[in-house]
Amino acid sequence: MEEVLDNLNQILKRIEQACEKSARRADEVKLLMATKTVSPERIKIALRAGQTLIGENRVQEVKEKYEDLKDTPHELHFIGHLQTNKIRDILRYGVSCIQSLDRRELAEKLHHRLTLEKKKMNVFIQVNTSGEESKFGVHPDEAIALVQQVCQLDTLRIRGLMTIGLFSAETEKVRQCFRLLKTIQAQIQALCLPNVRVDDLSMGMSGDLEVAIEEGATIVRVGTAIFGRREYPDSFYWNERRG
Ligand SMILES: *Cc1c(COP(=O)(O)O)cnc(C)c1O
Repeated sequence: MEEVLDNLNQILKRIEQACEKSARRADEVKLLMATKTVSPERIKIALRAGQTLIGENRVQEVKEKYEDLKDTPHELHFIGHLQTNKIRDILRYGVSCIQSLDRRELAEKLHHRLTLEKKKMNVFIQVNTSGEESKFGVHPDEAIALVQQVCQLDTLRIRGLMTIGLFSAETEKVRQCFRLLKTIQAQIQALCLPNVRVDDLSMGMSGDLEVAIEEGATIVRVGTAIFGRREYPDSFYWNERRG
């Protein structure tokens, strides 16, 4: 318990310092706690300490934790690869934003289901800025076309862009990923599309949040640095071959 709170305080301090360094206000950057594999008990420790935003990668985990978390106020974003056969579930268990919308087929199926249920959903477009095959996300060259398609579906409200930076110790290469997302944001904003706001940039994790904040992140997604190392490697969640 102590450990989660100590870690959390350190992360908040890192965010604050990074904001200071890039002359941004600390309240311009939100912390999303990436809670895959973390038990509801440990999630609640962080929520009770004042955190409000969590992100899950798998619909199964969203479902399993729903009952335990529903009485502790929070906001839940989906940040993992979403299979179209899981759409009904994701609408049922309190997800308020899907940050990982990365293809037209998914958008259309979401729209179909949302229309039937008379609901709306906030979405971010996930862009693969690192070029790594093991990561999901629309190709940067196709991001604008996807936004143009999605904005015609009136149940989906585009609110931002999301990316996972390159895993590399070379900061400058990581920075290029975040910079690319920022560039795409500016291109989308210049189009002034109806029903589209891309104010939010969700980028930066435990290892690279400072760089992401310097490049304009408004949401950083942090797991390991708060809750400790996971039992599964990230490839378990991120590898295309797992589908
Ligand atoms: C797990 C995960 C994170 C957090 O990664 P850490 O390195 O544990 O901070 C961020 N974004 C996504 C999409 C994730 O799956």
